Amino acid sequence: MKAECEECLAIFDVSDDAIVGEVVTCPECGSDLEVVELGGELVKTRKVQLSGEDWGE
Ligand SMILES: [Zn+2]
Repeated sequence: MKAECEECLAIFDVSDDAIVGEVVTCPECGSDLEVVELGGELVKTRKVQLSGEDWGE
């Protein structure tokens, strides 16, 4: 599967057995990205917040 980096918009390969909640690292910018949705052409990702801030979700 392929994923798009939210940070730099690079397209990169992720494991075919990736699951929602898995954290992958963008090979272009090194951002940690959490898989949020599978299916379709691209895996959706969201940048992992490492600051520990609570955004109220
Ligand atoms: Zn990136």
